Amino acid sequence: MRIRGIPNAVTPAQILRTHGHCFSPETGRPLHERGEARRRTEDPTNMERDGKGFRKSNCSAGTLFLFRQGEQTIRYTMQTLSTQLELARAGQITEQIKIVAQNENLSPELIRSRVAKGEIVIANHPLRPQQKIVGIGTGLRTKVNASIGTSSDICDIDMEVRKAKIAEQEGSDTLMELSAAGDFDAIRQAVLAATNLPVGTVPLYQAFKETTSKYANPGKMDPEYLFDLIEKQLADGISFMAIHCGINQYTIERLRKQGYRYGGLVSKGGTFMVAWMDINGKENPLYEQFDRVCGLMKKYDAILSLGNGIRAGAIHDSHDRAQMAEMIINCELAELGREMGCQMMVEGPGHVPLDEIAGNIMLEKRMSGNAPYYVLGPLPLDSGAGYDHITAAIGAANSSRHGADLVCYITPAEHLALPDENDVREGIRATRLAVRVGDIAKYPDRRENEKAAAMARRDMRWDDLEQHLLFPEIARKLRQERMPEKSDTCTMCGDFCAMKKGTEVFKDDMTGDKICSVL
Ligand code: SF4
Repeated sequence: MRIRGIPNAVTPAQILRTHGHCFSPETGRPLHERGEARRRTEDPTNMERDGKGFRKSNCSAGTLFLFRQGEQTIRYTMQTLSTQLELARAGQITEQIKIVAQNENLSPELIRSRVAKGEIVIANHPLRPQQKIVGIGTGLRTKVNASIGTSSDICDIDMEVRKAKIAEQEGSDTLMELSAAGDFDAIRQAVLAATNLPVGTVPLYQAFKETTSKYANPGKMDPEYLFDLIEKQLADGISFMAIHCGINQYTIERLRKQGYRYGGLVSKGGTFMVAWMDINGKENPLYEQFDRVCGLMKKYDAILSLGNGIRAGAIHDSHDRAQMAEMIINCELAELGREMGCQMMVEGPGHVPLDEIAGNIMLEKRMSGNAPYYVLGPLPLDSGAGYDHITAAIGAANSSRHGADLVCYITPAEHLALPDENDVREGIRATRLAVRVGDIAKYPDRRENEKAAAMARRDMRWDDLEQHLLFPEIARKLRQERMPEKSDTCTMCGDFCAMKKGTEVFKDDMTGDKICSVL
């Protein structure tokens, strides 16, 4: 794939001015050339209106114009400004930007400027008017994603719908429908109908599962079928997609040369794409035709989340050459995608020891130009199965503290079984807790709620305390189940209550703020 520059076959005379992009007259695809065009021409829209014999039709990349120049027919694809990124670059404060600003208590202009730079993305599918608008990126609250979906062993569409509803009730910000068995289209549509959360997918799952069901060979997966699936899922209402564009022959070579991993490969989509490339001896079509992927995402203003197919599945594999090769390519693609007007995120990193999390976030932010970072966990331990929602919460608190923007939950069933409804609930609660821990370290000026909670607890204002808790129903239930004899204590210490005694001793010193505080 040629990712920069102008193909030799296209002469400067054929490059026309568009809204920031030039398109090849031969292929109709963007040339990734921004800025000044080589030669100006009249606006073709006006030409058509003036009846000068120019023809216009629609194609997947935008509006296609064909017109004559001398003896030559010129093909000119003009894309309208349609994505949040393009509109923000044009200086527009969209309704979606206003909603994000209101939700985050930040100024619309600040949000616009960060969307324009690609530091914030907004999940907003144009065909789902009830969809919750969610901003992800620099300066915003760290968001939580819950992943659901069937497997070949447990395939129950009703359970997936229930999980989707639980995810929304429990305060997940986004949802990924990651089914790997059953009627993919029906499950996706049922989940979309069950929730207002932005829903994401990994289209490679459906492509490879349906191919192997038919041919018993993932190498038979037809790239054209994959591109059709991407468009079909987007048309259904999918707001973001994890697409494994960053795996290429260079990445695989790094993996082979360093020796296979202790933790193997753990990304389903990534591993099957590696297998496809190995069987066919070809380059990854998602890398080779990256501009086509971006064109499809732009059509629905969907967020392209660059999948982490070579993520580490063991802390001893963290930051090896193969993982870094994919990260470098993904960061490069994030920049190219933004240049094409596509909203971009980068994914990573899998299993990472605690002391490497800060470095991992810094590398992603530095190399991608602050593209929003969507992290999976990360898991800082390999031996916590059964409690990996807590292992991951430790990683999530650290990653959000250092700048991660969206955290995918891990459930207690991780590495062991398909999550059930209760696992989904527990996973979301653990992750919400973790990112709040991370956020109050990331944004020290956003600790007022913690202060209010602490003072309500000190003063035994139990009802007030609930207003400041992440899980007030659970707190209320626990207290009510084990009520103390005296209502101004709890059954933890009873009449040996330190809070009560301290208040008695210092009752004359409780007005105003204390002098030394973290804020
Ligand atoms: S009884 Fe113990 S745990 Fe309960 S409020 Fe008093 S000091 Fe805190």
